[in-house]
Amino acid sequence: MPVTDRVYNFSAGPAVLPFPVLKKAQEELLCLPGVGASVMEVSHRSKAFEPIIEGAETNIRTLLNIPNNYSVLFLQGGALLQFAMIPTNLLNGKSANYAITGSWSKKAFSEANLIGNPKAVWDGKEFSYKRKPAAHELQFEPDAAYAYICSNETIEGIQYQEYPNTGNIPLICDSSSDFFCKPVDVSKFGLLYACAQKNVGPAGVTVVIIRDDLLERSGDRIPSLLNYKKIAEAKSMLNTPPCFAIYMVKLVTEWLLHDIGGLDKMYAINKEKAALLYEAIDHSNGFYKGHADKAYRSIMNVPFRLPSEELDKKFQDEAKKVGLTTLGGHRSVGGLRASIYNAMPREGVVKLCDFMDDFAQKNKS
Ligand SMILES: *Cc1c(COP(=O)(O)O)cnc(C)c1O
Repeated sequence: MPVTDRVYNFSAGPAVLPFPVLKKAQEELLCLPGVGASVMEVSHRSKAFEPIIEGAETNIRTLLNIPNNYSVLFLQGGALLQFAMIPTNLLNGKSANYAITGSWSKKAFSEANLIGNPKAVWDGKEFSYKRKPAAHELQFEPDAAYAYICSNETIEGIQYQEYPNTGNIPLICDSSSDFFCKPVDVSKFGLLYACAQKNVGPAGVTVVIIRDDLLERSGDRIPSLLNYKKIAEAKSMLNTPPCFAIYMVKLVTEWLLHDIGGLDKMYAINKEKAALLYEAIDHSNGFYKGHADKAYRSIMNVPFRLPSEELDKKFQDEAKKVGLTTLGGHRSVGGLRASIYNAMPREGVVKLCDFMDDFAQKNKS
């Protein structure tokens, strides 16, 4: 298939990557400039790999303007391993407070229950996970080890517009599906993390940004590869890191810095793309129904439904024929979902909106 035949891929993850990044990776695949081998064939402790992991970290620090008292770690095990590592390292026999806003925070809470006794201080179940809590709805226990949120629920398509203020309680955030979608004040968080395969790179690496005082909570009895402090001391090289995935994160962050021009610019582009898509939903006279309450709509994941399951299916089949793919909702909720991450070009969203208008006209009863 020639490269010009690439589809518009609305997958929630692993997801679309920026075309210039894939091109560059392709060019360098056989031979990194000046190295004579691919990034997959060199030692992680070599002079060839050093500038790659350091470059990725520097770019992440620059993009998010990360204060000096934070460490940036590259881990494996995806977001799911963080669901376990966070309580393992940070509870220290105390409770923690979780805001359950959808499938991923719910899963994080249930994993934390295998390790300690966390408390759910809010659960959006009664609102069918259509919205996030407002600041005044969240009460935290003063002695909680940390407060936990998921900034963007990938499956329900709801996103915090403002993060809760937790005072002295470290705020922990799963930002897997909205990392780098907009500027974020990292100093508000104790720990912010994202698996790469939504908005940052390929599967295989998870970026963890942790405030240095929290590293002191990791006791000596925690196995090394689950221990934030030991991993930070070893600069993410306690064992072999996912070299290729880190290399891709370096390319994606370079693209964000140099091609896009930083996260303010990325945010403006993302808001515009999301507005186009929500407009297509809102102006369909109820043919398309979005899931989220308007005030909490995600600019990354847009779940919606048609009047019947038959039409949901027909929509997907016909969309696929014109190169708009992977529009099925998560297997747990059904319906449709368009993920419009950073790397989804505006043209892809416009093409989807046009298709939606056309499909609605033809299939209205
Ligand atoms: C995809 C996703 C996860 C799970 O990530 P894995 O890397 O597969 O463990 C967790 N949280 C959020 C918000 C996600 O979008």
